[in-house]
Amino acid sequence: MQNFKVELDSDGILVCAFDTVGKTMNTFTKAALDDLMAIAERAKTDGAVKGVVITSAKSNGFCAGADLEEMLGGAWEAEGIDKSDPEAELKGAFAAAFEMNRVYRALETCGKPVAAAINGLALGGGTELVLACHYRVLSDGPKVQMGLPEVKIGLFPGGGGSQRLPRLIGAQAALIAMSEGKNFKPKEALAAGIVHEVVADDQVVEAAKAWIKTKGDPVALWDKKEFKIPGGGPYHPAGAQVFMMGNALLRKQSYGNYPAVINLMHAVYEGLQLPIDSALKVETRYFAKTLMTPQAKAMIRTLFFSMQAVGKGSGRPVGVPKTEFSQVAVLGAGMMGAGIAYVTAMSGIKVVLIDRDQAAADKGKSHCEDLLKKAVSRGKMTQDKAQGVLDLIAATPDYGLIKGSDLVVEAVFENTELKAGVTKLAEAELADTAVFGSNTSTIPISLLAKASVRPENYIGIHFFSPVDKMMLVEIIMGEKTSDATLAKAIDYVLKIKKTPIVVNDERFFFANRCFIPFTAEGLHMWAEGIAPAIIDNVGRATGMPRGPLEMMDDVALDLLVKITSETAKAEGANYIPIPGEAEVAKMVADGRLGRKNGKGFYDYPEAGGNKALWAGTKDMFPVTMSEADPAQAEELKKRLLYIQAVTAARCFEEGVITDPREADVGSILGWGFAPWSGGIISLIDSIGTATFVAELDRMTGLYGDRFAPPQLLRDMAAKGETFYGRFGKVDRKAA
Ligand code: NAD
Repeated sequence: MQNFKVELDSDGILVCAFDTVGKTMNTFTKAALDDLMAIAERAKTDGAVKGVVITSAKSNGFCAGADLEEMLGGAWEAEGIDKSDPEAELKGAFAAAFEMNRVYRALETCGKPVAAAINGLALGGGTELVLACHYRVLSDGPKVQMGLPEVKIGLFPGGGGSQRLPRLIGAQAALIAMSEGKNFKPKEALAAGIVHEVVADDQVVEAAKAWIKTKGDPVALWDKKEFKIPGGGPYHPAGAQVFMMGNALLRKQSYGNYPAVINLMHAVYEGLQLPIDSALKVETRYFAKTLMTPQAKAMIRTLFFSMQAVGKGSGRPVGVPKTEFSQVAVLGAGMMGAGIAYVTAMSGIKVVLIDRDQAAADKGKSHCEDLLKKAVSRGKMTQDKAQGVLDLIAATPDYGLIKGSDLVVEAVFENTELKAGVTKLAEAELADTAVFGSNTSTIPISLLAKASVRPENYIGIHFFSPVDKMMLVEIIMGEKTSDATLAKAIDYVLKIKKTPIVVNDERFFFANRCFIPFTAEGLHMWAEGIAPAIIDNVGRATGMPRGPLEMMDDVALDLLVKITSETAKAEGANYIPIPGEAEVAKMVADGRLGRKNGKGFYDYPEAGGNKALWAGTKDMFPVTMSEADPAQAEELKKRLLYIQAVTAARCFEEGVITDPREADVGSILGWGFAPWSGGIISLIDSIGTATFVAELDRMTGLYGDRFAPPQLLRDMAAKGETFYGRFGKVDRKAA
């Protein structure tokens, strides 16, 4: 037995410490499941075994669930699945889920009491394993959590979780937990009734043994004659109501975009009417059905595999030694600069935060202090740690203190001359190897690099607001930026625990370039006379976090007006005005700046509460469509999604972005692009390039050239290529 360290103690308790071979985290590989089956067999047949304790031998957690890499990587195909079958991978995953249920059930019915000593993080299949144990003791360690987060990658719990959790805590609580993918901290898990005891980390095994020796019941709750589902099952009037309301609520919240949530609902509803063994089969059937959906395939690829790859710096040129950062200088202590100083100091790096005068620099530092106070008050950090982070930040107007910095991040006002000036001042203090990164959102990096004496060390490091929350950072290559500089910039972004994507130097780079058309399409619709409520409703129904007009309010209307006028200036005679842009400019002139001053497309009550549409919108464009039938709503949704996707395709054609994984991950982390699609490029691939081009041609005819497919898409459609097929798996090599 290689994946569990097994020891029979003097009381006849078989202590099994999980330790997956070759993995940093415990996961259920095929071999590990075989070992667990052997444990269940031994418990059943060996008279010397009085009870079983399952715990983890690894210091970083209990179990992260099924091994997705193995599950989808073909390890299960050997089980009689034809490798040439295009669905082989997914059938392998089905086989894995089936086996997981069989093994967990064998443990649950081995006839001896089984207790879980959960000494660390237990997620997905890890939580499902302990639900199949008769007793659960959880460590109170600071990093310990439990939960069933499968919906976040387009799946639902398929290792018995969808059947055991509702039987344990009731259908309503279980459905909420599983459909949100909620994680429970130790106290929450105890309060929810998911575990029996929470004890100090070094006491979990003892407490589990104590239960076996004193009470040690070897029969699962749901295998007892007198068992009743808490809160009533679906056949019980109260239970039936839970399902009716739950169904309506889940469909409303997810707009039907997530088949996993709908299938979860079916599995729980049908499963609760059956004995557990049949219920587990119902679960496996719905689980397999979910796996076969394009949404699950795309979400697993992007939100699991690509997120990991990009999050580890897949865009980093290979062969450049890793850079350690001892000091970073941040120029400009405004909204962005202060946030950048905060996240940098949070990762243990010394920061010199520079502004025009001491007061402005101090203001930036006090913003960091506010963020730290909030973290302390929420119990996320100790006071000592917070003070330590704050002490790493030196706020000053003195450019001389930049000396010794490995990196400068510039975040002064968006002005080319000003940026040139501070570049010169900073470079006078910097070593030849130091990197200079600009956080500009609109000025070309190659233009800014002209002010630098070392343009090969000059790069764009584009953060999103608010910096402490947004995970994405765009790294922008200038014409002369070297690979060594790119590698250093990526090392910095990884060090501060953000996700870097590498983009080339075109107007608005990648994220804003694709996002702006979403808001512009909302303006087109407004000018066509479509009611703002419809525009924002269909916007949310696409899976975007907010509709286009609400989103404009959030970004700030004055900023959008500024961007529009600068775009017009840059494009000169080629600029095509967006209908509605003059009206937005008028709103700004009248003091409607968006959410930040409580007045935009919507009025935001000062006391909080729901926003209400500003009545003036209908004076600007009288409403001609105040209701949309399902077909009309579908078409509006298409416009909002396809205008972004066609822009992303143009970015590939122009080489603005080169790796579909980075485009997908960037779209979800950067502007909340519909996660069900797996990202902006996965959306096109799942529609199919030929169908997408045909639709774009149709839409160009109806709405104009902004929908026109680029030549690249036509070529791909003619050859039947996908983006992942054509551009997949690029590794950037150092020159
Ligand atoms: P801001 O106005 O809040 O801050 C700019 C700061 O620069 C001010 O504190 C100002 O005093 C300081 N400054 C001006 N001249 C200086 C000098 N000579 N030396 C040092 N400091 C000086 O602006 P912001 O929103 O933080 O934006 C800063 C940069 O980040 C801009 O280039 C902007 O385009 C970019 N950006 C902004 C956002 C956003 O959402 N606001 C997002 C990404 C990038």
